[in-house]
Amino acid sequence: VAQEASNSSTSFNLTARQELRLECSNGKPVSIRLEEGTAEVFGTELNRGRAVSVTGQKVAVFTWVGCRVSVQGEPTVMYVADETPMASYLNVHQTLDQRREEAKRAGPGSAGNNGPVVVVVGPTDSGKSTLCRLLGNWAVRSGWQPTFVDLDVGQGTITVPGCLSAVPLEQPVDIEEGFSADLPLVFFFGHSSPGENPALFKSLADKLAALLQRRAAADPRVAASGLIINTFGWVDGLGYELQKHIIQTFQCDVVLVVEQDRLYATLQQDLKVTCPRTTILKLAKSGGAVKREGDERRGAREQRIREYFYGTARTPLQPATQTIRATDIAVYRIGTGPRAPSTTLPVGSASLADPLRLQNLPPSLEQLQCVLAVSHAATPDQILNANIAGFVLVKDVDTARGAVTITAPAPGPLPGRYLVMGSIRSSME
Ligand code: ADP
Repeated sequence: VAQEASNSSTSFNLTARQELRLECSNGKPVSIRLEEGTAEVFGTELNRGRAVSVTGQKVAVFTWVGCRVSVQGEPTVMYVADETPMASYLNVHQTLDQRREEAKRAGPGSAGNNGPVVVVVGPTDSGKSTLCRLLGNWAVRSGWQPTFVDLDVGQGTITVPGCLSAVPLEQPVDIEEGFSADLPLVFFFGHSSPGENPALFKSLADKLAALLQRRAAADPRVAASGLIINTFGWVDGLGYELQKHIIQTFQCDVVLVVEQDRLYATLQQDLKVTCPRTTILKLAKSGGAVKREGDERRGAREQRIREYFYGTARTPLQPATQTIRATDIAVYRIGTGPRAPSTTLPVGSASLADPLRLQNLPPSLEQLQCVLAVSHAATPDQILNANIAGFVLVKDVDTARGAVTITAPAPGPLPGRYLVMGSIRSSME
């Protein structure tokens, strides 16, 4: 690598298959510009001569053939790496693309017309989301329209935390803006860990899988393009059981295990019986995937919520705050709410512990700063099966007057009267 610095701009000459890794904090603006050659950021090609902001992100500029790239601003960390797992990731992409071609050749209506359903599993911060993004982008660039499914309720990339969601990828992911949030299909789980209500997590995963299977059945191109599924990083005990549930309910035929030998070995054993036709591959973690501490994860969740309501620097939204009558809405909680130790429950209260029990909540201060999902349900009994139109944030509850003040990303009436409350909160002003 040849490196040259002038003022706060640094220029790098990368040779084939090198990557420039940058960690940029939120406060200090950083942008990158491709000067010569070709390069991509997690599978999205850079346009030559155009500066792209990467403020607040951890990214890699990778080149297959060599390039010159300049960096404006001061990243917290900036270095060039020679060793990356990109060649093995590209190999996976090529195998998946063959499967898509085969599915397309099989044609609509035939048994083999479904493209690959890929799931990425592995510990937190092993680069799962990044691998999904690479595979999604490469598929789009080869002319497919894969559906990206994000089941990582802790650090989702499509909408606010606590959701199981899906978006069709029609264009490479925008480097500055992330996944396009146009009309995602979203189910609200309500918590940042699947362990808060495993039965609900499973039930919503089943709903989402069934809906996506129907969508694929209606559109041969969507079917042949397949799914790319991101999961959460909890891979032991109950977390592992949930991962297996995901593999079964989405009928995954390719499981990509990042980093963990043990997880790979256990899955191989277990799936031999239940899903004998599933291919399991082990992939190396990128040295660039950065560990995040608890604080940083909470910060990232808060940031996702903020972006939902306020948009991004390039595409800001004008959130609207309005006060409505508490009787115009109905807030529900699914499950038992904050868990009481089982010893404190009276004998015979087992039904209270039903994880799918719907509980109508009166307006209360407990709802302050809660992110509530606006359900598409037309009646309360549809809430468990319905997906979500959007979210509101509770800013004030006046129990005496029966009024609730909420912030929504746009002005106007709410798209539904049934709101679902979980444990996702925001300190946003
Ligand atoms: P996971 O989904 O497994 O939790 P991520 O894909 O979110 O992991 O990766 C963790 C962090 O590391 C993210 O901020 C991501 O942008 C960053 N990252 C991943 N790969 C690289 C890389 N090659 N260079 C620089 N940063 C990377």
